[in-house]
Amino acid sequence: MALTLQSYSANRWIGAGRDAVEIPSAVDGRVVALASSEGVDFGAMVRHARQVGGPALRSLNFHQRAELLKRLAVYLTERKAALYELSYDTGATKRDSWVDIDGGIGTLFAYASRGRKELPSERFVLDGAFEPLSKHGSFVGAHILTPLHGVAVHVNAFNFPCWGMLEKLAPTLLAGVPVITKPATSTAYLAHAMVAMIIESGILPPGALQFVAGSTGDLLDHLTGQDVVSFTGSATTSGKLRDHATISRNAVRFIAERDSLNAAILGPDVTPESPEFDLFVKEVMREMTSKAGQKCTAIRRVIVPRARLEAVRDALAARLGKLTIGNPRSEAVGMGPLASQQQRRDVRESIARLATEAEIAFGDPLHCTVADADAEKGAFLSPVLLHCADPIRAERVHHVEAFGPVATLLPFDGLDQAIDLAQRGEGSLVASAFSYDPAVTEELVMGLAPFHGRLYLLDRDSAKEATGHGSPLPSLVHGGPGRAGGGEEMGGLRGVYHYMQRTALQGSPAKLSALTRTWGPGAPIRSEAPHPFRKNFDKIAVGDTVETPSRVITLEDIEHFAHFTGDTFYAHMDEDAAKANPFFPGRVAHGYLILSFAAGLFVDPAPGPLLANYGLERLRFLKPVSPGDSIRVRLTVKTKRSARMPEYGEVRWDAEVFNQDGDTVAQYDVLTMSARPA
Ligand code: NDP
Repeated sequence: MALTLQSYSANRWIGAGRDAVEIPSAVDGRVVALASSEGVDFGAMVRHARQVGGPALRSLNFHQRAELLKRLAVYLTERKAALYELSYDTGATKRDSWVDIDGGIGTLFAYASRGRKELPSERFVLDGAFEPLSKHGSFVGAHILTPLHGVAVHVNAFNFPCWGMLEKLAPTLLAGVPVITKPATSTAYLAHAMVAMIIESGILPPGALQFVAGSTGDLLDHLTGQDVVSFTGSATTSGKLRDHATISRNAVRFIAERDSLNAAILGPDVTPESPEFDLFVKEVMREMTSKAGQKCTAIRRVIVPRARLEAVRDALAARLGKLTIGNPRSEAVGMGPLASQQQRRDVRESIARLATEAEIAFGDPLHCTVADADAEKGAFLSPVLLHCADPIRAERVHHVEAFGPVATLLPFDGLDQAIDLAQRGEGSLVASAFSYDPAVTEELVMGLAPFHGRLYLLDRDSAKEATGHGSPLPSLVHGGPGRAGGGEEMGGLRGVYHYMQRTALQGSPAKLSALTRTWGPGAPIRSEAPHPFRKNFDKIAVGDTVETPSRVITLEDIEHFAHFTGDTFYAHMDEDAAKANPFFPGRVAHGYLILSFAAGLFVDPAPGPLLANYGLERLRFLKPVSPGDSIRVRLTVKTKRSARMPEYGEVRWDAEVFNQDGDTVAQYDVLTMSARPA
């Protein structure tokens, strides 16, 4: 029986109206689901997100939101078998679904972990250091990021109903912004099943996630400058949405991932005997056939030295010839059908357009032998490899995205021409360069980087562990300029910041320090007893300071340190050689000696709540210390953050070492863990 997909709005599921569209299975044409958003009040949906979801998310700090993502990821992992089962009807093989379902859940885990490790246990982010703005230091600047007070509308493509939804959802929720997610209708039943699980879990606060089955109605009319639209799909729809009167009038943030004619380039240094040749052919084959080529990152243009054209074509044809196409439920099948009959019609039409400039070197767009399925009832399509002999004069091969198992071979003469051809895509998500020659790779990178969001540089050294041309990763930027939409997603915390506003603050160091709970130069310090190492984490306050007495550094200290550590570098041991060095007045103390003596000056040695020093950051030695100089230290609590374990917290200290003249000789952050009260 067909599933009826409902929308989830203001805490309730709203059934599909009478105008529901039928969604057929990609494999056999049977109706899998019905969808329509008739009856949904989009204004109420947006209000609910703004008035209920947003405040609930913003009341949590980043670590609490990260915890929600992690719990969701665990919850979905335990239930993913049901999603895999549904996914077959989208045409996906098990391996395709792994990218979509496990890849999506993996993105939730990745953002949970980044949020915990890289963001503070706060509701804002301090972006960079305090900026000095005045001569005497009484007026400074700083930047903070705070979550927008609106809603993120995510409009997704049909090809990755789970990953495409979660890779947008994770950074948005971590930012503290509620989401209205709308899947593409042709595979909406899979996204719907996942959203139903998320809602049923009760993990997210009410209003944090709402769902549209079917069209978005007048949703966009309700958006303001506090909202964000993030879109994946065709350039035509993206253009329509970007030009929507409300979006342009209210300067609604708009992020787009759209058509992209990604290239793979074979370096002129690669011969059929080089390992890179095989790697290239395998990668092109994989990109043509995984998810039946319906990937925004798939290789569409195969750019090869003219002399290698035949070898590449023959090697690809041989591999493609061995591919089994058919029912994705069958283990033996390497490629399933396209997502819908409409998609097959679109791809055939695109192939016909490409064929006006290129000849078909492999495959028949109209016929396909399939295993365990009916080739006509399902949206099956043979992989099609085209060859365009004159890619410099051709246009369509650079502009028409056949969103299926389709790629075109483009021969080049000289590296400049290879770069020129890749650039004719007018901006893509990703390009691959296969070469073992560093000069070739550098030239390609310099020519391609401004036109791409990601470059995949493959050779024999990295192949074994490489993640794949077509795989966007949570830690790396996914997006591209120009035709690819000009947007950027993920890229670690960058993807979170798209949903936040950066604001410059100006004021006194005391005021900015209190607001940002971060000590900066000029902000008040407190150096009265007890020593902060005697305080547990909860008692430690930003600004708590240790000011040490001074200690003279003698030549004997330097020699002792040199022989004890084995660091007998001439600058510490040889007066003449040290003098000849433009940076030193003569023999100087080791930087590490200064650090060690500084620790000796500031520690409070008895057992206590301070548990461990786990690192230093931003270390700079600013002035040499000569024998006879004395040093003293000021150690101030800069920030505090709760740690993964509730038993302790992390404290970052600002350490500054001065000489007898009050000049700074070294500066760094000390990172420690302090116990919390039981
Ligand atoms: P569309 O642009 O038609 O649809 C993308 C999303 O936009 C879907 O969720 C769709 O919903 C929605 N949408 C369509 N019209 C509107 C509208 N007027 N207002 C609000 N939302 C709207 O792309 P498809 O997914 O159908 O794919 C078509 C082609 O796009 C592919 O063949 C491919 O060429 C390209 N594409 C490119 C991608 C890339 O990143 N490179 C990714 C995916 C597709 P609904 O399904 O309900 O219409």
